[in-house]
Amino acid sequence: MIRALLTALRWSPASLRAQSWWKRWRRRRRARTAQPGRCPICAGPARFFPIAGGPRETPMCAGCGSVARQRALVHTLAGLGIELTTAQVHESSPSLATYEFFAARCREFIASYHLPDRPAGARLGAFTVADLTALPFAADTFDLVVTLDVLEHVPTPARALLEIARTLRAGGTFVFTVPRDPARATRARAELTTNGWRHLQPAQFHADPTTRRGALVVTDWGHDLEARLADAGLTCRTLTLLAPEIGVPVPIEVFVARKPATAGDSPPATR
Ligand SMILES: [Zn+2]
Repeated sequence: MIRALLTALRWSPASLRAQSWWKRWRRRRRARTAQPGRCPICAGPARFFPIAGGPRETPMCAGCGSVARQRALVHTLAGLGIELTTAQVHESSPSLATYEFFAARCREFIASYHLPDRPAGARLGAFTVADLTALPFAADTFDLVVTLDVLEHVPTPARALLEIARTLRAGGTFVFTVPRDPARATRARAELTTNGWRHLQPAQFHADPTTRRGALVVTDWGHDLEARLADAGLTCRTLTLLAPEIGVPVPIEVFVARKPATAGDSPPATR
């Protein structure tokens, strides 16, 4: 209970603003040696400096603190013609950079985190407790759902895709990034059993703000990713972005999956 209260305080809008200010102040020192560019999240000139964490992360924007995959997604989103000011948007497990971006622009923005010890749908500061495989939201709710390098950690990804499709409005869009190796088929690295995780591959973790150890990589996504989206009723278009001027120095895939406009319609190839 006390832990939940502390988390709620740490994740309150006021605390997030304070954290944002403090992190921005700390980044300012790094910005002196940074490369100039343009940040789609800051929506203006920016400076980028290298960070550890691999090619999907580096460089970081000195202004908003975004990493490469986040800018790739927001840049791609800008080209989709989705009017955020009238949109109802859900991002699962957002970073501070994308949380601030969507919270400032969307008609309604739900930022969710999965915390197994908290009831689904509970509010925790600025966030809503939600498990992607059993979302506490009504069907046909969101115009846009966003995940950034989240799908590789979901215990049952097929169920998560069905849940995302269910909660999207007809004609709604699921925009996401996830690491994938196009040279092979999707495979499970671990399976959740009644006795806990059964590892099929050596355990691999990615950094995660909610756990000290990090988030277990459950799925290695492969060339059949788009087919998995189709199984959930979503038509997936894949855009590869390479744009050093916005701090995306290596190609990053952004997946744009649409729910058909009305049930039974064949989805449009482009919009
Ligand atoms: Zn920025």
